[in-house]
Amino acid sequence: MKKIFLLLALPLLAQAQKIDKIITRSETERIETYLASDELAGRKPFTPGIEKAANFISAEFEKAGLQKTNGSYLQSFPMYQSKVLNFTAIVDDVTLCPAVAIISKEANIQIDEKSGFEVASIKEGENFGQNAYRIMSAKKPTIAFLHESFAKYIPRLSGRGPLRENQSTIIFVVANTIPTKFKVSATQQVEKLQLSNVVGILPGKSRPNEYVIFSGHYDHLGIGKPVAGDSIYNGANDDAAGTTAVMMLAKYYAKKRNNQRTLIFAAFTAEESGGHGSAYFSKQFNPDQVMAMFNLEMIGTESKWGKNSAYITGYEKSSMGEILKKNLVGSQFTFYPDPYLDQNLFYRSDNATLAELGVPAHTISTSKMDSEPNYHKASDEVQTLDLDNMTEIIKAIAKSATSIISGQDTPSRVDTTKLK
Ligand SMILES: [Zn+2]
Repeated sequence: MKKIFLLLALPLLAQAQKIDKIITRSETERIETYLASDELAGRKPFTPGIEKAANFISAEFEKAGLQKTNGSYLQSFPMYQSKVLNFTAIVDDVTLCPAVAIISKEANIQIDEKSGFEVASIKEGENFGQNAYRIMSAKKPTIAFLHESFAKYIPRLSGRGPLRENQSTIIFVVANTIPTKFKVSATQQVEKLQLSNVVGILPGKSRPNEYVIFSGHYDHLGIGKPVAGDSIYNGANDDAAGTTAVMMLAKYYAKKRNNQRTLIFAAFTAEESGGHGSAYFSKQFNPDQVMAMFNLEMIGTESKWGKNSAYITGYEKSSMGEILKKNLVGSQFTFYPDPYLDQNLFYRSDNATLAELGVPAHTISTSKMDSEPNYHKASDEVQTLDLDNMTEIIKAIAKSATSIISGQDTPSRVDTTKLK
């Protein structure tokens, strides 16, 4: 017994010493502190703050020796911002007062009942959130008539953005019944702007066409209403922490250089405003080639089980969680299935886009979703994080991924017919 134990324990120990030299608390602190600093002003899309963050991540990827795609670490794509300048809506010959929301990247909109728009409605007493989400995600141009009890949501619907290249025109009009005749015209100011993910690659030695992704979103909410004199939403935990982990893992694997599969490190933009970064990213390669995705979200605080633990969303949807757990046997660290199932976390982060294509794509997090005191608040600052524990989590993720990176283990695919 003893002999076998020693044989097993020695390589583990050797690996432990090395990893402790590369994934250090001081590096975690350096990267995390910059990403969450006031200088970056909450990393909101289309602001100088998020550009600074992107440049910083690029420079770190360069230092680590990751490969670029098309000469850059920035994976840029167009997005649209629109602002309604004026509109009129006539419903069954009655001109309506401002009770219209327009989600569109068209500068001129002229529609009536003969325009071929899909017609939808949300009736009194129906679930507004679910129905509005379904209508907003429609692939075809749609006009939806809302019962007057939902008129209060019009400003929130109007404030949608940024919009994607393929955004179809969606119009919400307050009218208690679906009219037989309607006419909506509007003019908008539409701007085409760039957003960028930051992506670095470490080619695999023997299986270069099989990818393993490590990701986190580097955007956050920007500047909001001051709370106790602080108006910057630093997003130290959400998700400077996950982004820091991605950068540390990049450094670690680049030093080791023994990855048999290709590793892709991605910092996503615009997660908070609709998951646009990961949506664009997921279309740049064949999802069948992605063997696993480790999406890292909010790993800076202690989980509900205390130190040295984290949870995996969608745990039962592939065998990835079991593989990660197996690779940590004998360590102090434990992965648990997501305990906040009612919160739909699996569908709420950047792993979802790839999971919907069948990729074993999960989010690893420690956030106590029922009681995290600084979640989406200006108080989400570095001082509230446990950087020692966070460093241990990053190491545990690195160790847990070992057999996937070497090609020894391949998680089962997500059964997309069972997804919501
Ligand atoms: Zn987040």
